[in-house]
Amino acid sequence: MVRLTRDWVIRQLLFAEFDSYRDVVRKAVWVGFKVSVLAYALNLGAHLLLYWFGLLPYALSSALIIATVLTPPITFILSTVAYVAVGLAIHDLGVSRAELEHLSRTDMLSGLLNRRALLEAFDQCNQEKSLLVLDIDHFKLVNDTHGHLVGDQVIAKVAAMIRTALGERCICARIGGEEFAVFSSDMNFAEFAVLGELTRRRISTTRIRVGNKVLSVTVSGGVARALPEQKFGEAFSRADRALYAAKTRGRDRLALCYDTGKPDLFSLKSNAV
Ligand code: GH3
Ligand code: MG
Ligand code: MG
Repeated sequence: MVRLTRDWVIRQLLFAEFDSYRDVVRKAVWVGFKVSVLAYALNLGAHLLLYWFGLLPYALSSALIIATVLTPPITFILSTVAYVAVGLAIHDLGVSRAELEHLSRTDMLSGLLNRRALLEAFDQCNQEKSLLVLDIDHFKLVNDTHGHLVGDQVIAKVAAMIRTALGERCICARIGGEEFAVFSSDMNFAEFAVLGELTRRRISTTRIRVGNKVLSVTVSGGVARALPEQKFGEAFSRADRALYAAKTRGRDRLALCYDTGKPDLFSLKSNAV
């Protein structure tokens, strides 16, 4: 019984029936109606039983009139009010739970998914995927020159550019300070790499305005392919090696890791696509 009640409450928390206040009230009225019909039937049954055994201490007609006039409205009001009170509490808990769930999966600075959410989405996807890891070049210099707050704004603006360029067909996340990861199972590796390269170019050619400062940054990226059964950690280590290659070959470029085993790094020059 306790378990059934607990399972029921958990189902309600997932918004089975308490999606909105209006749903709560509608459901409460319906439950109140059913409870009052049941209570009325039980009341009548009890009086008839007592009458049958000759135990009713007053006339059956008066008993039936009192039962009819009092039982349905009282049980309807009590059960409806109780159901509304519990239903509203469950609704509010459900809303808080959804907000907490959203917060726990979102990176607050950029509004993108955080590392945990991306990792979960990646590992749950059982198709071939492409992964891109992007890192802002010489970002420490941005902080040192303009301050940490400006640095934060730059991260947020780069994140917005990534979302605009890739967000519709890819899952995008900020996975570290000035590091982003994007994956897709929706396009082939070459198409994904080209889209990544176009994004890199857009970032490097966009002037970022923060207050009265205008600056620009470049990003380097590593792209890797992941077979359906390969987990994020495996794909990430290859994309990260490709990223390292892009950094050491001069930054502001992508490096690709075609092979799913030993990486075969290939650097996309700025004017190669
Ligand atoms: P590279 O081109 O090799 O990536 O150089 P880099 O300077 O970007 O890399 P490095 O790892 O040396 O420095 C990253 C800097 O990012 C250092 C750290 O203070 C800064 N950083 C990390 N997280 C945040 C953040 O949330 N906000 C700001 N403003 N800075 C951050
Ligand atoms: Mg960096
Ligand atoms: Mg970094």
